[in-house]
Amino acid sequence: MSRNPELFERACQTIPGGVNSPVRAFRSVGGAPRFIKRAQGPYMWDADDVRYIDYIGSWGPAILGHAHPEVVRAVQEAAVGGLSFGTPTESEIEIAEAIAARLPSIDKLRLVSSGTEATMTAIRLARGVTGRSKIVKFEGCYHGHADSLLVKAGSGLLTFGTPTSAGVPPEFVQHTLVLEYNKLDAVRAAFEKEGKDIACIIVEPVAGNMNLIKPAPGFLQGLRELCTQYGALLIFDEVMTGFRVGPQGVQGLTGIRPDLTTLAKVIGGGMPVGAFGGRADIMEHIAPLGGVYQAGTLSGNPVAVAAGLATLRLLSAPGFYEHLSAQTAKLAQGLTERARAAGIAFSADHIGGMFGIYFSEQVPTSLAEVSACNVERFKKFFHAMLIKGVHFAPSAFEAGFVSATHDDAVIQATLDAAEQAFAKL
Ligand code: PMP
Repeated sequence: MSRNPELFERACQTIPGGVNSPVRAFRSVGGAPRFIKRAQGPYMWDADDVRYIDYIGSWGPAILGHAHPEVVRAVQEAAVGGLSFGTPTESEIEIAEAIAARLPSIDKLRLVSSGTEATMTAIRLARGVTGRSKIVKFEGCYHGHADSLLVKAGSGLLTFGTPTSAGVPPEFVQHTLVLEYNKLDAVRAAFEKEGKDIACIIVEPVAGNMNLIKPAPGFLQGLRELCTQYGALLIFDEVMTGFRVGPQGVQGLTGIRPDLTTLAKVIGGGMPVGAFGGRADIMEHIAPLGGVYQAGTLSGNPVAVAAGLATLRLLSAPGFYEHLSAQTAKLAQGLTERARAAGIAFSADHIGGMFGIYFSEQVPTSLAEVSACNVERFKKFFHAMLIKGVHFAPSAFEAGFVSATHDDAVIQATLDAAEQAFAKL
């Protein structure tokens, strides 16, 4: 008897839906989630000691593979010196310097403990700096669970078909303009109509919360130009893409410089760290220098920062992203070849260490196209792979993640399993 269903039932007694973050619950794919006991490199082991090749990667942070010895050592050393002080520390300076040195758009940054806090505060800052109320977000993008951003959002909201959360009064989102991703004309029209009231655009510069959707050529550049023209701030939400798609995130790949950037996931190396940063003149509006308030009891937590710093250091190894990207490409191409051989309408895409798999002939370029993919087939594929020891994200609307420890043998084992899974679909 597997312990997973039993643990799930027990979890459901005291934790809503048995989980502390909705997509984990397997609700859209069915069955009981696997309760993970430990993880190492590309693998996780569940309550029955069954091993899985992991493509969730903690939803992005596990870029070095799980429990990298140097990261674990850094955490242990920091923990021995005290878990939290609520005072400034030298390690906070080091991580701020490390991030600012890597991302040219960031002069100054503030650490928080999650991506949600980072985006929520970046928006408050944009409103505070511009004195404007309206914000632009895109359908299918997810920026954490702050009220004004929970409109037509991606990730779990998209997965469960409730893209706008209950409990958010209409008045709280009346200033949120929701537009279609990759449709620059609509953004231009919105600015022509209300440009003087728009504080910022927040965008996932590569969308990873409606599966993986890349920006159309000219889309991000167009957003940059409109923001500059109308005096609005451009916020790149690189919580997922930061240090994941390349050493400087999407801004490095495209050369487009946002006014503010939000980060989390990889910069915490598996511990709770988020950040928002940008030009000094903007960041100086944050308390205690300016009137935009933000704070956090555990912000810049020394143990979390130690994990982040060790991770950032290891990412600087020569060839790191070339290797990561090559492994991810092998996965995406290999899956596509095997699906096609089995006569299944399937496509895959990737960027750096992030990938999307789609049960559709062509790689989707919009939320509408991604929504038209064959979700039933995804569910069958997901379970067929799980039984063979390969754990993808339990949703057809989430990107997947590869780590540096997904070597050729791991990718090959995944492709062998996929060949059998596709044959049965
Ligand atoms: N922004 C993006 C682009 C994300 O992918 C996420 C989380 N998946 C968030 C914000 C929210 O981050 P967190 O879950 O750490 O609050």
